[in-house]
Amino acid sequence: MIQRTPARIEARLANNDNRTWQQLLSDSVTTPEALLAGLGLDPARWLGGATAGHRLFPVRVPGPWLARIRHGDPDDPLLRQVLPLHQEQEQVPGYVRDPLDELAATPATGLIRKYRSRALLMITGQCAINCRYCFRRHFPYGEHRLAPEERERALAVLRAAPEINEVIFSGGDPLAVSDRLLARWMAELSGIASLQRVRIHSRLPVVIPQRVCDSLLAWIRQSRLQVVMVLHVNHPAEIDDEVRTALARLRAAGVTLLNQSVLLQGVNDDAALLATLSETLFAAGVLPYYLHAFDPVAGAHHFDVSDQRARALARELQARLPGFLVPRLVREIPGRDGKTPLDLGLEDDGTSAEEARMSNLVNL
Ligand code: SF4
Repeated sequence: MIQRTPARIEARLANNDNRTWQQLLSDSVTTPEALLAGLGLDPARWLGGATAGHRLFPVRVPGPWLARIRHGDPDDPLLRQVLPLHQEQEQVPGYVRDPLDELAATPATGLIRKYRSRALLMITGQCAINCRYCFRRHFPYGEHRLAPEERERALAVLRAAPEINEVIFSGGDPLAVSDRLLARWMAELSGIASLQRVRIHSRLPVVIPQRVCDSLLAWIRQSRLQVVMVLHVNHPAEIDDEVRTALARLRAAGVTLLNQSVLLQGVNDDAALLATLSETLFAAGVLPYYLHAFDPVAGAHHFDVSDQRARALARELQARLPGFLVPRLVREIPGRDGKTPLDLGLEDDGTSAEEARMSNLVNL
């Protein structure tokens, strides 16, 4: 059933170009009702599941993302990433609240140390968009917000660990905070001699391309630290002309752009589509970096793609693309020093995703 787009949402879409990123962020769609109405989807069919899922992990969709979703199409791959479904309430064995065991790796509030040479700073719990499959959808951000004294403690940990040469701004989405705060972090990190790089994991330049504003580019340009930005794009339709312009501005400021995708059932589990994604990213100046096997987070089992299928897709990608456009198919396994590539050379043996995960854990 196709419905007319309500005037308020039409106004929100029409005005995307003239608004600051802060206005776009604060005017995001945050209820299932508004999301369904804005896209002309039948509430009788979708609202029950969407409301139940929304109670577990709230809806958040900003206008520029909404504008890229096909009106009236419940299977749209961008919509699938943000629309709660009734499956989110199902409890499925093997799908847990903290699949990467991150809470056990948190030495100071807001600081996660999973690897020897790198440390993650969770500078905000806020995201510009709430992705239904997010492995941090249950993370207790409230307990890990960096208050000023915790911020000093996190900096002290970094100063006392000269083996750390890279800080990763993570979240939440680190670009959801003000440029004033980010500039301050950069200034303090620049004073730690052992640090060489800051890596920023963000969806914001794609979700709200207006986020790549002059004040963001100013602190990037001023820092002595190299800046690497790892974007998160799962489908070629996420990249439109505004996103291309934002990415070009980041590149012109000296930022190295990489992308990580998550392999998601019903979104991008198709070799031709993944090949198009790599080509689209590269044309926009972004190197495909990782294709993540799904992390088994509770409430998102319906996105899971078996390891057998993931390997088959990755092999097909290898056959279709030059090597530099093939993202590495990886899984993060708690306790390992880096991501674990899924071995594409093995013959398919019909092993289920869960059996493969268990055997990986046994082999630790
Ligand atoms: S952390 Fe990343 S994947 Fe998770 S909800 Fe935020 S933007 Fe989406």
